[in-house]
Amino acid sequence: MDLALLVPLANVRQDLGLGEGPGAVLDQPILVGQGEVDHATHRIAGDGPPVSHTLGTMETALEPAPHLTPVLGRYFQRDWSHGQGHRLYDTDGRSYLDFANGIAVTALGHVHPRVTAAIHAQVDRLIGPISAIGFTDPISRLAEAIAATFPGPLDSVMFLNSGSEAVDGALKLARRVTGRPGIVAFRGGFHGRTWGATSVTSSAINYRTGYEPLLPGVHLTTFPAVYRGFGGDEAAAVAGAMADLRALTTTTIPPTAVASILIEPVQGEGGFTAAPPAFLRGLRAFCDEHGILLIADEVQSGYGRTGRMWAFEHAGIVPDVVVLAKAIANGLPLSAIVSSRDLQERWGRGAHGSTYGGNPVACAAGLAVLESIQSEGLIENAVARGAELRAGLERVAAEDDRIGDVRGPGLMIGVEFVRDASTREPDGTLPDRLSAACADAGLLLLTCGRQHEVVRWIPPLDVTAAEISEAVEIFGDTLAAIPRD
Ligand code: PMP
Repeated sequence: MDLALLVPLANVRQDLGLGEGPGAVLDQPILVGQGEVDHATHRIAGDGPPVSHTLGTMETALEPAPHLTPVLGRYFQRDWSHGQGHRLYDTDGRSYLDFANGIAVTALGHVHPRVTAAIHAQVDRLIGPISAIGFTDPISRLAEAIAATFPGPLDSVMFLNSGSEAVDGALKLARRVTGRPGIVAFRGGFHGRTWGATSVTSSAINYRTGYEPLLPGVHLTTFPAVYRGFGGDEAAAVAGAMADLRALTTTTIPPTAVASILIEPVQGEGGFTAAPPAFLRGLRAFCDEHGILLIADEVQSGYGRTGRMWAFEHAGIVPDVVVLAKAIANGLPLSAIVSSRDLQERWGRGAHGSTYGGNPVACAAGLAVLESIQSEGLIENAVARGAELRAGLERVAAEDDRIGDVRGPGLMIGVEFVRDASTREPDGTLPDRLSAACADAGLLLLTCGRQHEVVRWIPPLDVTAAEISEAVEIFGDTLAAIPRD
């Protein structure tokens, strides 16, 4: 029997990934000036007229792509032409305020002048070779720049290509270094689609269905989901999840056999749910007590998204290993595993590697991303704009009891929908309808959560106050126009 047929359609749409519609061909090079960057448009003050995006030959290929795999899901059935600043344009020329960002990837929006200039310059200089052949300036510089964003002793960076690949690498590091087999991960977590990453993912059944048996030695435990799992009681969530972890390690696997505990400090695909700081501190203490490596998956929550460079900083802890991807190169494929030099030395030369990991062009883009975050004050912007967004969404929620919860730090905010505020029964229908209607109204928002009960807000890090107001207004008006069932 075809197992895929058993998968409910709702699950098939879980974490689909942003579809890559046919692109437009730019008819002229993008000129980069030296002036101030306008955050909304990404144009530089004093530059000439906006870049023209006249369509070229790709325009003729806009009919559905029969040779493109049907396996990849898409949030929107739209054909994208180009992006500029925080707007995406479809092939009919309509513009959309892009708060989807390819699922938190283009965190600086589209055609960011510094990133684009860095890519152009590096393409003209050297595209390969990559790490296995020797050292290349952008790779070494990006390793240094990324290491500088971490507290000690995290100072050693291995570049790979995707979040999944980096998660797999981190799990291999933990097993090899500790000599232990066990991996503990959290229910509701999403870590990717390679075999190891799939084995620690449980945000929706479709990611696992038909792939069993998965990696042995993986044990899932309770994530402290304050609203969904513990009735809104943060202390109960911390105590309950810690108790479940202790129960796991006193009944199922001894802590001395656990190599690593892997956690998203803010669960992303699982529903935009932050682990309470007290829980992360409890985990850190538990790992210290038992010689377990604590791995933070910051693929979605990192890079200033939560109002700190790394989400684990909110808890005042330092993980042993951190996994990064998505925003790291604003759209070019790049990911990294960061740990202490000591851990990577103990992992051993040749213990892991990658043909493409740390491509010089992606690393040049990565340097420009970090420079922008620092020089444009984007972490501060995430705090300030995040507070405005949260306040705006809370105002919408106060008017509409279909919203059960508004939560999340910085610019990583989840709005959870319920069928009934008192029972908190998740509404797995409305958010997708709302997302589609918002797109029709010119705003791109994605959903997440096991049943798609959450609308996730991941605006660009350099979003403006005016764009936040615009988006909240579209969201509120669109929601109000959707009748109750
Ligand atoms: N970890 C987290 C927290 C993620 O959100 C994702 C992607 N949604 C991944 C890992 C996997 O990343 P990739 O798709 O680049 O393999």
